[in-house]
Amino acid sequence: MTDAVAECNIKVLCRFRPLNQAEVLRGDRFLPTFQGDDTVIIGGKPYVFDHVFPTNTTQEQVYNTCAKQIVKDVLGGYNGTIFAYGQTSSGKTHTMEVSYFEIYMEKIRDLLDVTKTNLSVHEDKNRVPYVKGCTERFVSSPEEVMDVIDEGKSNRHVAVTNMNEHSSRSHSIFLINIKQEHVETEQKLCGKLYLVDLAGSEKVSKTGAAGAVLDEAKNINKSLSSLGNVISALAEGTKTHVPYRDSKMTRILQDSLGGNCRTTMFICCSPSSYNDAETKSTLMFGQRAK
Ligand code: ADP
Ligand code: MG
Repeated sequence: MTDAVAECNIKVLCRFRPLNQAEVLRGDRFLPTFQGDDTVIIGGKPYVFDHVFPTNTTQEQVYNTCAKQIVKDVLGGYNGTIFAYGQTSSGKTHTMEVSYFEIYMEKIRDLLDVTKTNLSVHEDKNRVPYVKGCTERFVSSPEEVMDVIDEGKSNRHVAVTNMNEHSSRSHSIFLINIKQEHVETEQKLCGKLYLVDLAGSEKVSKTGAAGAVLDEAKNINKSLSSLGNVISALAEGTKTHVPYRDSKMTRILQDSLGGNCRTTMFICCSPSSYNDAETKSTLMFGQRAK
């Protein structure tokens, strides 16, 4: 497997969650109309993606439509990244099945061995960062990868009192590193899969935030727009300059976003009329990546 594969495969998928109880009680209207399997219409305007998942889509259908293929590709030696983008409560974490990994209070916790609570970051001889002493598991199929993910999930940090508050303001990045060696040919195959549950994309109203909260919001907006710039530069394919260095996240993800990669962006949306403006801006973000 060479690294020089020019093709960069970016897929943008859009998922709408159902109206929740609060939205129903408030009498919100259900905004989206779904057309075929790739189009959603909001306010008369069609938004086209590689695939659109309407509100009644099951987790299994989402996994079979995209995640399974990416996991297969990573086992085949490609790098990949799966993002979930959307406002808070739009279904990002629900779609990723894997919100369990995060660096909590600057401590890296091993989710496959709970006795390792404070791991450190080292660099290998090629200056690629890695977490020293982190548990490694042998996996040979997409199903086994999903089993390991489930195991980590059950060990997830539950001490955060306001989990949703906390997780909506940070990006959580989960890395699956896969190295395989053929017993007879000794041929080596390496693949990396990043699962990125992004911070909520909602705009913070000028009146509703001040001081530290506003700084935090500006920071989130900046890193999300840097990500948008990188993805759209990659999607255009003609640009020689991809602005990876504009944010920490795009720097970390650099070798899983360009060249030899499989990138999937989930655009998560609320169907409620109450979130009309946020939903349109979320859909526009997704369209930029096409
Ligand atoms: P986010 O991570 O974007 O803030 P969550 O994934 O936590 O949002 O979803 C918010 C709530 O909506 C959760 O209670 C979740 O279970 C529910 N939810 C999200 N997407 C769906 C869906 N497609 N079907 C049913 N419930 C969903
Ligand atoms: Mg979340």
